[in-house]
Amino acid sequence: MSEDQELGITEQKEYNPGEWYAEVVEKAELASYGPDGMGGFIVTRPRGYSLWESVQDNLDAWFKETGVDNAYFPLFIPESYLEREKDIVEGFDPEVAWVTQGGHDELEERLAVRPTSESIIAPYMAQWVRSHRDLPLRLNQWCSVVRWEATDTKPFFRTKEFLWQEGHTAHETEDEAWEETLTRLDQYQRLYEEVFAMPVMRGAKPDHDKFPGADTTTTVEALMPDGKSVQGGTSHYLGQSFAEAFDLTFSDVDENDRVAHTTSWGLSWRALGALIMTHSDDQGLVLPPTVAPEQVVIVPIWQEETKEDVLQYSAEIAAELEEAGVRVHLDDRDERNPGFKYNEWELKGVPLRLEIGPNEVEDEEITAVHRPDGEQETTARETLVEDVEDHLDEVFAKLYAAAEETLEENVREADSPEEIMGTIGQHGGYVRTPWCGDEACEEAIKEKVHAEIVAVPLDEGDAEGEHRENAHRAEPIHEEGDECTVCGDPAVETAYFAQSY
Ligand SMILES: [Zn+2]
Repeated sequence: MSEDQELGITEQKEYNPGEWYAEVVEKAELASYGPDGMGGFIVTRPRGYSLWESVQDNLDAWFKETGVDNAYFPLFIPESYLEREKDIVEGFDPEVAWVTQGGHDELEERLAVRPTSESIIAPYMAQWVRSHRDLPLRLNQWCSVVRWEATDTKPFFRTKEFLWQEGHTAHETEDEAWEETLTRLDQYQRLYEEVFAMPVMRGAKPDHDKFPGADTTTTVEALMPDGKSVQGGTSHYLGQSFAEAFDLTFSDVDENDRVAHTTSWGLSWRALGALIMTHSDDQGLVLPPTVAPEQVVIVPIWQEETKEDVLQYSAEIAAELEEAGVRVHLDDRDERNPGFKYNEWELKGVPLRLEIGPNEVEDEEITAVHRPDGEQETTARETLVEDVEDHLDEVFAKLYAAAEETLEENVREADSPEEIMGTIGQHGGYVRTPWCGDEACEEAIKEKVHAEIVAVPLDEGDAEGEHRENAHRAEPIHEEGDECTVCGDPAVETAYFAQSY
């Protein structure tokens, strides 16, 4: 095998999406698998970690603008803390990793490696909140959590330990907590749309798939080119169950003791999996300029007699772009030819390539090539910075448009269980259909085609009056009198079925 072939992607996205994805992650130097015997763990390499940093930079700034403070809580949670909220225990029990020994001594109480941190954050919030003047309280932590699921490792999509952020807030009223829940969902949607160039679908999770103990779980779902849905981030209105379990109470203006309303919300590095899967192609990684470690690579093309001029001109262009705030890399390696460099930077997902040869030097021009589709344009050196910025915007717009087309073309209707299964089997994507609300009807579909209800419509209006179960569920969007497509009982929901990661 030649060096070029080893460097390049050999699997095809369309026919072997799983193998293709693994190859892109490895060859674009995003991540490696963990040590033997540690299935489910990955090592995030600098190019992969820089993508996570772009998630952090954006979300962290938006969180802080909207009243959130960062904090940090222990990695371990005492078993007795975890047991205080029964739904959390039941929901996470099969996936918790336990520490039973410290040094040579057996622990008196075993410690859970956090699968999520409600159980250790809520008791401290309860200590810190005394009166309504202490509310709202909004905390976030950037950390990793561990969920011991026996699965094949798929970097960023399926790992036992994953990086994420988890936000935890407490409020006086249901309305405020619900508004908080939607504010965070908005920010997740914004991350996908404005930073990742990916449209998403907003919705709520069906009851049987809510976060353990939550009143309502909201989600942004992203549709992958292979037809599967990715849960891109979730924001939960927890009602008062956690506040009751952990005595998170406050005295109101009339000095009456009241129970707070809480939320939690999290986005993990699965977002990176969705980003890589959505835009990349058979040449390798494709990244929007918003997150690319290098937005522009300059590849000089020279013969011995033109080398000095070409390199000089290329260096000036690099300096001018850097000065303007563009992340630019000049690839002036002697030992590699231009063709090799093109392939390597395409593999690594640099959005824009500038080719600089003797013609460009002579005519005072630049030639720019877009990563996603190879579109090429030669323009005057004079307008370098604005042209490059326009090119980067165009690359972003192309990626967004392609992802939007995938989503728009892949929401279908179905009138029978056979049609739900047939449609998903043939096309993937979402099937929207009336549903009675019974999990058994989802199971019937799941058994046959591994598709589940990934979302139901979300009612974004204010909560009305007192707390009630499912106060935030939208009215079904199908017609009155419709029947559940699976069992024929009256429909109470509109379900979006899809296969999911
Ligand atoms: Zn049914």
